[in-house]
Order: sequence, then C-alpha cells, then structure tokens
Amino acid sequence: MIVQLSIFAIIVYLLRRFQIFKKMFKPGSPLFAVGYNLYTKTRVGNYLNSRDIAKNKLVFPDGHSVVEHTEVEGVIILPIPYLKDNYAYLVIEKASNIAAVIDPGDAEAVQRVIEQQNVQLTAILTTHKHWDHSGGNQKLKSLHSNLAVYGGERDGVPGCNHKLKDGDSFQIGGLKFTALFTPGHTVGHMVYLLDRSDKNLPNSLFTGDILFLGGNGRMFEGPPSLMLSSLDKICQIPDDTLVWPGHEYAVDNLRFAHNIDPANEDVTRKLNYVEERRKERRITSPSTLGEEKSYNPFLRTSQDSILQQVDPGHQTTSNRQALRAKALAYLRKNKDSFSYKL
Ligand SMILES: [Zn+2]
Repeated sequence: MIVQLSIFAIIVYLLRRFQIFKKMFKPGSPLFAVGYNLYTKTRVGNYLNSRDIAKNKLVFPDGHSVVEHTEVEGVIILPIPYLKDNYAYLVIEKASNIAAVIDPGDAEAVQRVIEQQNVQLTAILTTHKHWDHSGGNQKLKSLHSNLAVYGGERDGVPGCNHKLKDGDSFQIGGLKFTALFTPGHTVGHMVYLLDRSDKNLPNSLFTGDILFLGGNGRMFEGPPSLMLSSLDKICQIPDDTLVWPGHEYAVDNLRFAHNIDPANEDVTRKLNYVEERRKERRITSPSTLGEEKSYNPFLRTSQDSILQQVDPGHQTTSNRQALRAKALAYLRKNKDSFSYKL
C-alpha cells in the first residue's frame, strides 16, 4: 500500500513539475472538453461556483472592488462585485423604481444591493450560461415573483423563460434593451444594449465575457472567425456607448496590450489610468467603445502594427478576414501565456 501511494505521489509530482496537468487541460484537449462539459452542462459547475463564492467572501468581505453609481438622466447603473473579479450590474429606472440585473452569478450579493436600494427587480439579463454569470438566476427567481429571465436561445441559460434571438428588443419599465447575438466565448452568448438614443444620451453595452476593458474573452465554443464576426458586430455600435464588462481584468489586459502595441499612446495612457485606479481597488469601467477601438488589440486586428507580427508583409494569407482571424488567434494564444514582470 505504502509503495503504491509513493508511486502515485511521484507520478503526481512529475506531472505537476513539468506542467503536464496544465497541458492535459489545455483548451482543445480531450480532458479539457470533459471538464468543460461537466462544468457547463451539469450541477457540478453550480456546486463549484457556490464553493468559489463562499471562498471569495472570506477574502473580499466587502467585494473585490470599490464601485460607484453612474447616473444619467433618471437611470442608475450600479456595478456589484462578486467572486474575485466578476461584476453584475443593477440597472434602475428611478421614476418607477423598477430594476433589471445583468449576470447575477452570486444571488446573495445582488439581493443585498436590491434591498439596500429598495427597488423592484423585474428582470434578469444573462449574457451566457457560465455559472459565474448565471449561478444566481434560480435563487433570485424564487425570491422575486414573475421575474423575467432573458438569455440567448442557444446557450441553455439556467431559469431562462425569455429566449432571445439576434436583434430582439424588449422593455423593462421604461428601459429599452436590445440583445445582440455574439457567439465565440459560448455558442449562445448575447450582449445587451441599453438604448438611450431617443433621449440623445449615450447607450450602455453589457458585454459579459466577449469584450473586456482592453481585452476579449476566451474562445471556448467557436473558432477565431466566429469571435471576429461578433467583435465586428459590436464595433458597429456608436463610439460613445459605455462598456460594462463581466470581469475586472483591465490592468492585466492593458499590460498585454502594451506588450503587443508598445508605440500606442492610447494604450499607455489607459494603462496608467487603470493602474492608478486599482491601487485603491476602484472599478475601472466604464470605458467607451470609441476608447476600446483605440487601445484594445482584439478590436484592432485591422491595424498593420498587429498584422505585421502575425504575417510579415501579409505573404501567406491574402484573404483579409482570414488574416484578421489569424491575428485574433495569435493575440489569444499570446495573451494566455503572457505574464507581466516588473
Ligand atoms: Zn464565461
């Protein structure tokens, strides 16, 4: 028995020593597919999410970040930090006191804010099925009667009772939302546009895991060309639109952006800004889509400074979209292995 345990311990040590576990669970590997399916399609994922939430509450009893209200002409957007870097967003229409929440991965954190604000929650908008974004749906449904739960028709969002297609619009009180189908991170990922164009005010875009400040989500369920078409769709939205992503990844993303595009002054400026904010654990969002286009490398696959790194002189890929998809894959691969050294 002791001999068997020792052999097992040596094998585990060697696998870890040479980072073989990491390679075995790399996206695309068979073991990753098994683990990913267990996480997304069974209650295992929900259990792991609940365990992570409990663990992170011990580390960050007041949340991972200091957040602020953004109020524009009768609409409040209130970020809610949970886990180690997730944000849900409570959107409140002041006149009616009606609210919607985007991506309540942690029901308890969201419910606390609903009670503090004394608002009536009438809808959940889910960007995608991953438990860290949807894990609180069922619990909130049990706490709030007649709750509408929106999600992409192809994503199997827990508790979803309003399945959405690309371009579907709906009202929550006086708040007008449009859902845009943006696959690539998951097969049914949606982003939600809070449309305030009728009042000549900037829109807000809740981007889940497809677009972060300075970065882009991983391509778990689709090729780079699909992710590229989703990012291109987002870039059609007006530049003054406020961007509210699902995670606080700004410092990490912009350090990578600076490494890829060192001469880009917009990257340097924004990196300095977010590093200052994070010294005090302050939220870095929102940015605007116009800003993102200036420094986010994943939205800049048309730029020569990036394309030259992928295919110098554009010798091997003559098709422009194929070359941009190749650039996206290149950025993803490099981002995944990037580590910042002081
Ligand atoms: Zn996700």
